[in-house]
Amino acid sequence: MAIVNFGSINIDKVYRVSHFPAAGETLLVDGYSVGLGGKGANQSIAMARAGADVRHIGAIGTDGLWTKQRLSDEGIDTDGIAVLENEATGHAVIEVDPSAENKILVLSGANAALTQDQIDTAVGAMGADDWLLFQNETNLTEAIAAAGKAKGVRIAYSAAPFIADKVVPLLDMVDMICVNHLEAATLAEGYGGDMDAIPVSRLLVTYGARGAEYRDDGHVEFVPSFKVDAVDTTGAGDTFLGSFLAAISKDAPGQHALLQASAAAALQVSRHGAADAIPTADDVHKFLFSRA
Ligand code: ATP
Repeated sequence: MAIVNFGSINIDKVYRVSHFPAAGETLLVDGYSVGLGGKGANQSIAMARAGADVRHIGAIGTDGLWTKQRLSDEGIDTDGIAVLENEATGHAVIEVDPSAENKILVLSGANAALTQDQIDTAVGAMGADDWLLFQNETNLTEAIAAAGKAKGVRIAYSAAPFIADKVVPLLDMVDMICVNHLEAATLAEGYGGDMDAIPVSRLLVTYGARGAEYRDDGHVEFVPSFKVDAVDTTGAGDTFLGSFLAAISKDAPGQHALLQASAAAALQVSRHGAADAIPTADDVHKFLFSRA
């Protein structure tokens, strides 16, 4: 059972600054680092490290060939990642000041240049037991959902960045919505504030340090978060979803998938970084054993 992830791939360019420059000001920065980012790439890595068979479908520019290699090094099938001559790889320019406050500019770049051909090829090759996953950081989200529904595969939608007008029309095409609690509350507003009334059969909602909840056809399960010293929560949601879907795609029961995901996210937030901080299945196993 594979998971086919139509996902963004970003280059995160992080600049350490003494202060945020004012209009017209030129500022020498105190430090610079480059990393792999994007919800799509983070979720693919989280799923692969949790032991899932992952195919990533996306697009990059020639400036981002190393990102494709990084995903491939994780054991992810990258044949569906197009390399475009005339687009820049999606990237984020992140300024971080000494108090850890940040300012972020994002260019979608090649993430907004996925084609119908890529969708048809990838979905056409899917088996009946495979899962399709997508987020809101690429173009053609509606076409991706429609192709998955026509093929009859199970579809998970990581509905972030959350834009109600974009998410609501896709609800009847997908099997599972994955959101944080703020997004869930916004979505529920359209249904009288009742989460059970959201028209989707499975709903995964994360509540940060409090825990996470899985609603499967009216059956509600909750797992509290593990208590850890959190140092950096960037990518916690992607880690949780990746680990959860990896377990669900192997037909694990909801409670088991929640526990695995909660442990993976707890380990991830106790390390610095986003993708690089995502734990392996072995790390998660040892963590759960130590907490038993
Ligand atoms: P982000 O946008 O930072 O990736 P998110 O808003 O999508 O996060 P959260 O609900 O903040 O997602 O976190 C996802 C999961 O990560 C939580 O359900 C929980 O399991 C874990 N988690 C987050 N923060 C903590 C914490 N401080 N301690 C332990 N676990 C945490």
